[in-house]
Amino acid sequence: KPDLAAKITLKLKLAKPASIVHALDDVSLSIRSGEVVGLVGESGCGKSTLGRVIAGIASPTNGNVLWKGVDRDAMSARQRHELGLATQMIFQNPMAALNPRMTVEELIWEAPRTHGLARSTERDSYVDKYLTLAGFDPAMKKRYPHQFSGGQRQRVNIARALAVQPKFIVCDESVAALDVSIQAQVINLFMELRDKLDLTYLFVSHDLGVVEHISDRVAIMYLGRIVEEAPVEEIFRRANHPYTQALLAEVPRIEPGKRRFKPMEGELPSPLDPPRGCHFHPRCPFAIDRCRVEVPIKKEVAPGHLSACHLNDE
Ligand code: SF4
Repeated sequence: KPDLAAKITLKLKLAKPASIVHALDDVSLSIRSGEVVGLVGESGCGKSTLGRVIAGIASPTNGNVLWKGVDRDAMSARQRHELGLATQMIFQNPMAALNPRMTVEELIWEAPRTHGLARSTERDSYVDKYLTLAGFDPAMKKRYPHQFSGGQRQRVNIARALAVQPKFIVCDESVAALDVSIQAQVINLFMELRDKLDLTYLFVSHDLGVVEHISDRVAIMYLGRIVEEAPVEEIFRRANHPYTQALLAEVPRIEPGKRRFKPMEGELPSPLDPPRGCHFHPRCPFAIDRCRVEVPIKKEVAPGHLSACHLNDE
């Protein structure tokens, strides 16, 4: 049974111009306890929005989010509060998420104090424990966020999320703003923490190369829909959907014998006026007439491997 299952449609009303964006179009995703699911797509495809809905920061127009089989909307206030603590989100820009007027120590202690997770006499050891887990030297906890590098600030954010003892973390482009060498360190940290603290992650990223290193399973999003979903090695060895194939063509690889695909042409269409049928058809080199009118449904093409492409019926 999945720990988390979401089936969501989210329409966003925009004031200017007066229009509605189908930010998420009948998206369904389940995540099992201990899993790392990578959610990949170009910017503007809806992946961060899906992360926010799953983390409880945004609400769907239709559909529901189930946590251990219970609909979030049907939960008591207490259950919702507990779920709010169990589900944390780590964002791309580490500085934006940290109050510049608070020391690192105050930032880490704020939520555990508010939610009564530890006594004030335990403050020092509690803060030190979570800073250490995040690979941040507790001796520097009296300093302010601006005194640190981007990588260290992101470690403070990670410690802050861990300090409320979460079970599930949505990482929204959490390493995208970091240098490549620091990215690798932070990804390794996420993996260590998963094992030590029994965490589950939804790892939102535009970068398939990063997702390959951290994920057990990968979901590919295009213009508000999940178009392919499979174990990570299936995605990289036997990508089925032409959009996934085009994304893979853009990942730099030098290994001989790896299948190469044609890189993608054209821009992501506006979600205000998405193409009919398969949203990908204007950019797809394999599009047939049916693609222009009929929405493809996700079907299993191999065990645990789902893809939404009409070519699988041909
Ligand atoms: Fe291309 Fe058609 Fe498949 Fe869409 S359904 S990815 S347009 S072949």
